[in-house]
Amino acid sequence: MSARILVVDDIPANVKLLKAKLTAEYFDVVTASNGPQALDICGRGLCDMVLLDVMMPGMDGFEVCRRLKADPKTTHLPVIIVTALDSVQDRVAGLEAGADDFLTKPTNDLALVTRVRSLVRLKMLTDELGARAATTSQIALEPSPGPTLSGRILLVDDRASSRDRIVAGLSRDHSVTVETDPHEALFKAAEGGFDLAIVSLELTDHDGLRLCSQLRSLERTRLLPILVVDCADSEGRVIRALELGVNDYILRPIDRNELLARVRTQIRRKRYSDQLRDNVQLTIEMAITDSLTGLHNRRYLERHLSTLIGQAAGRGRPLSLLLLDIDHFKTINDTYGHLAGDAVLREFADRLRRAVRGIDLACRFGGEEFVVAMPETDVSLAVLVGERIRERISAEPFVIGEGHPAIGVTVSIGISTLTGPTDTVHSLFQRGDEALYRAKHTGRNRVVSAAA
Ligand code: GH3
Ligand code: MG
Ligand code: MG
Repeated sequence: MSARILVVDDIPANVKLLKAKLTAEYFDVVTASNGPQALDICGRGLCDMVLLDVMMPGMDGFEVCRRLKADPKTTHLPVIIVTALDSVQDRVAGLEAGADDFLTKPTNDLALVTRVRSLVRLKMLTDELGARAATTSQIALEPSPGPTLSGRILLVDDRASSRDRIVAGLSRDHSVTVETDPHEALFKAAEGGFDLAIVSLELTDHDGLRLCSQLRSLERTRLLPILVVDCADSEGRVIRALELGVNDYILRPIDRNELLARVRTQIRRKRYSDQLRDNVQLTIEMAITDSLTGLHNRRYLERHLSTLIGQAAGRGRPLSLLLLDIDHFKTINDTYGHLAGDAVLREFADRLRRAVRGIDLACRFGGEEFVVAMPETDVSLAVLVGERIRERISAEPFVIGEGHPAIGVTVSIGISTLTGPTDTVHSLFQRGDEALYRAKHTGRNRVVSAAA
């Protein structure tokens, strides 16, 4: 899918030029010749980012930008303000209006494509987060952060004057750690905690590009955004850096506003992608674990058990299954209340977890029923484990909180063992269930193994 870029300019020749450059880079381009038209296109969700001219009759670019950022529907739409060359005032005004980045006219191709790509990535992240928030209602996308978003930055620069200027430019809004040695910088970055690395490509004794390449290849720093700083006439080196996966660049002499804008974009992107990743992890965890006990859930067990059966049958190795059902659990609920029942289930799960090995898979199957799948375990070993669990449950009454009487709990356990290649999840469960049924009907608080 290619991103749609809206080009807004009142001079047709400018629109045409930008459109040609962006189309050549496989972006889709929509155009508008004035502010209201641009607002309409954005409001209808027809573009992924906006390249906005400042000087336009009627409504100027700053006003368009302000309105886009004020509307919740378009607040996450990245805006690049296209300013006249060297107009520092316009840059400041653009920042205040909420612009995400700047380009100067006449636009340099590398700058144009780099900035557009960087902001398109940001937009895709915010779209993805927004879509998930809408379906899961677990995460809410923060409103577009103002210029005050604060981050932790690792600055790698061994020239004092350059370093001081960058630190002075950033330290009001961000916390900056300075490192002059790239090896040390790599260590620090790998320790984590940074939102962005700023790397000078003009290090005296080292190759800044090498550091960028190392940062990109190390697992722990792969996702850390990198902004490189270079002198104005080194386009070749900047292109190399971008090819290595650096996210953006800034040329000397550094304009403080430009630096702040670029830094802010990268930090936002990092925050959003972290949020997205945390959420994916949480979703995966929720899908496979039981929220009351933290054990694996039934869905996970059923999937994984068929893999375990396949492996054991394929290698001719033993595998056993324990089916556990707490005795008279209904009475516990009825006597002490549902919350006490929940606490008993949690304590039961803890004791179960501690009684089995790391390779055993302990699950809450549902209600007060639990299952342990045990690879490399034949029936006699399974009986020993079952007995150990049974004892650890019944030996000590469950203490579930102050003011509560300790509760005596017992468990009945049925065991089934893999008999051959024709066994399935279903047949294993069926034999385990029969064994459990016999344990219940011969007095409870006992371990019974199925006839093989
Ligand atoms: P038996 O010895 O025959 O297994 O008797 P039992 O009372 O343990 O078995 P039964 O299946 O009749 O009752 C299980 C009870 O477990 C009924 C249900 O309300 C309760 N239960 C199921 N899930 C939960 C839960 O998450 N929390 C609590 N507190 N109770 C639960
Ligand atoms: Mg039951
Ligand atoms: Mg029960």
